[in-house]
Amino acid sequence: MRPARALIDLQALRHNYRLARENAGAKSLAVIKADAYGHGAVRVAQALESEADGFAVACIEEALELRQAGIKAPVLLLEGFFEADELALIVEHDFWCVVHSLWQLDAIEATAVGKPLHIWLKLDSGMHRVGLHPADYHAAYHRLQASGKVAKIVLMSHFARADEPDCARSDEQLAVFQAARQGLIAEVSLRNSPATMAWPNIPSDWVRAGIMLYGATPFEHSQAMADQLQPVMTLESKVICVRELPAGEPVGYGGTFVTDRAMRIGLVAMGYADGYPRHAPTGTPVLVDGQRSQLLGRVSMDMLCVDLSDIPKAGLGSRVELWGKHILASEVAAKAGTIPYQIFCNLRRVPRLYSEG
Ligand SMILES: *Cc1c(COP(=O)(O)O)cnc(C)c1O
Repeated sequence: MRPARALIDLQALRHNYRLARENAGAKSLAVIKADAYGHGAVRVAQALESEADGFAVACIEEALELRQAGIKAPVLLLEGFFEADELALIVEHDFWCVVHSLWQLDAIEATAVGKPLHIWLKLDSGMHRVGLHPADYHAAYHRLQASGKVAKIVLMSHFARADEPDCARSDEQLAVFQAARQGLIAEVSLRNSPATMAWPNIPSDWVRAGIMLYGATPFEHSQAMADQLQPVMTLESKVICVRELPAGEPVGYGGTFVTDRAMRIGLVAMGYADGYPRHAPTGTPVLVDGQRSQLLGRVSMDMLCVDLSDIPKAGLGSRVELWGKHILASEVAAKAGTIPYQIFCNLRRVPRLYSEG
């Protein structure tokens, strides 16, 4: 069998969830949208269900997958419903539902719901993605109350730059939120992972922890709490072929890397069809038989090349960690000009193997 695989450490996942919850001193939704950032939503939900306060996903398709797998915990739809006819399913399965737009409010008012809804009312406090305008916020809250169709409302907003600890924008967004919610007595949810990790002054009865659950840092620079996270996913494979090349030989598509001395290179069964980023350049770190080395040349669809020159004991069958406990996904992402969120979400084709650590 092809040796490429993703090992998922469920013990590390639980460690990170507890860290989020304890640090926030608040209830914590485990954000498992996009198949739990590539980690497998059902398995992640099962591993956390006994202790998680609830889960958050992007859409009803993802939420239904959890219910079909027997997950009974609360599940929040982060973008609410996309079409009004989803409301029947939302009621049937007791999903919690974001309302971010006035059309959703109209739809709730126009629909007979059998059971009261649990709504997270989202304010656009300055990110300018989805969310109600501050001028509409109070009225929306009171319309929901007056509809008689709502059991509970949580006040919610999302921050654009919480991953920049020195940026004033988060305080500005907080001020907009506080002004808009004045007089509304309800629980609040403002903090995603970077806000949970770096912005203790932002109030949040509920945090929404995504990337930190998976043990990757949302920050570009080192951060105290990021050091306590444990990477959950290890993407690994093996050396399937070894080549000895003299100086001056091009390696891989485009010949973008040329050996500058006699080199030993290893071909690894891992490529961009597995989700390894094609834009990772020569020099991107890899771990071969426990020793740091580097990627050489362009990443192909099913293979990539690594430098074995300084690891004489490495050869055919050597284990290669592409990211995991030693090579952080955030390091690889930075080299490839992206973020760990994206490289996790891009994972495909490789089997995921789950363990308790
Ligand atoms: C995805 C998402 C989160 C989680 O963000 P992280 O940075 O991964 O913690 C939180 N809230 C909303 C609204 C989201 O869409």
